[in-house]
Amino acid sequence: MSESIVPPEVRPKPAVPAKPPHVAAPSPTAPHGPSGLGGGVGVDRVPGLGHSGGGSTLLGYIGIDTIIEQMRKKTMKAGFDFNIMIVGHSGLGKSTLVNTLFKSQVSRWSSGWGSEHKIPKTVEIKAVSHVIEEGGVKMKLTVIDTPGFGDQINNENCWDPISKYINEQYEKFLKEEVNIARKKRIPDTRVHCCLYFISPTGHSLRQLDIEFMKHLSRVVNIIPVIAKSDTMTPDEKNEFKHRVRKELETHGIEYYPQNEFDDDMEDKNENDKIREAMPFAVVGSDKEFQVNGKRVLGRKTAWGVVEVENPNHCEFALLRDFLIRSHLQDLKEVTHNIHYETYRARRLNDNGDV
Ligand code: GDP
Ligand code: MG
Repeated sequence: MSESIVPPEVRPKPAVPAKPPHVAAPSPTAPHGPSGLGGGVGVDRVPGLGHSGGGSTLLGYIGIDTIIEQMRKKTMKAGFDFNIMIVGHSGLGKSTLVNTLFKSQVSRWSSGWGSEHKIPKTVEIKAVSHVIEEGGVKMKLTVIDTPGFGDQINNENCWDPISKYINEQYEKFLKEEVNIARKKRIPDTRVHCCLYFISPTGHSLRQLDIEFMKHLSRVVNIIPVIAKSDTMTPDEKNEFKHRVRKELETHGIEYYPQNEFDDDMEDKNENDKIREAMPFAVVGSDKEFQVNGKRVLGRKTAWGVVEVENPNHCEFALLRDFLIRSHLQDLKEVTHNIHYETYRARRLNDNGDV
């Protein structure tokens, strides 16, 4: 059966412009011809489209741009899932940082030095979910904590339970997907992002850091961060960041946002800037201080208050903006289109028996 390609519809000029009546008369110089749309494969730009300011009104308004509003409404109604995993040895401020990121007690396992805190004998995986709402948009946030990671004398293969958990979520999703009577919306428990906490030693990465990131960067989006960066001087911090970046490169560790998944030049330029600034040296806190008449989250040190959200003090705000305000959707897409897809292809290739 052959399929003929129907050229884009170019409708005849109506005798009377339909809508909106208040826009200026058609311009004889209105662009009409192959455009960037569809990569120049015979997609004509129809006059009247893509001109917000006084373009041609030959054909009148169609309403294609309302798709954005339609999508917005659907997303508002449905809400979305976001699953973030935190990895690093205990006491690095993981629980504090996710609580700072989401401005609430989203991680219940904040140990605190004073509280009774037992280090588990093996790595445990603990997931807690919360629904956070802002501006009418609901996010079901799941924080997956990994207590016990890196705390043993022998940490060999201590990423195994973590890797197993990540793959189990892919498997769950795959099973739902291949079901004959599948759900309209498959619950998404896949790990969209793994924040890996590097100890602020000022020296170099530990073997475990390298091994973990090497193994896991192929299955999940890893974002390395330098923990408790208020414990280093600015010079130490910059030098350490530089060294860590070099080491990651030497070991061929591909953290998020991965070069190869940049969509276009604009994406690449934006992500290059982020990659050059990584790993972000962060500080977390749940304590507020009064600074210049304003209440800010911070940590008191011998030199004064380190303000968590002040970009001159640390890179928490950079991480927050990147993770939540600019790349949250992309983290979900890379998880689905790359990591899950790789898992799915391998599984279906191995045996069709899901
Ligand atoms: P976790 O075991 O990695 O989850 O670490 P916690 O979040 O429970 O924090 C352990 C201790 O470190 C607590 O006393 C926190 O107050 C403290 N802490 C957390 N974040 C920071 C930070 O950015 N800088 C400093 N100096 N201390 C921190
Ligand atoms: Mg914790």
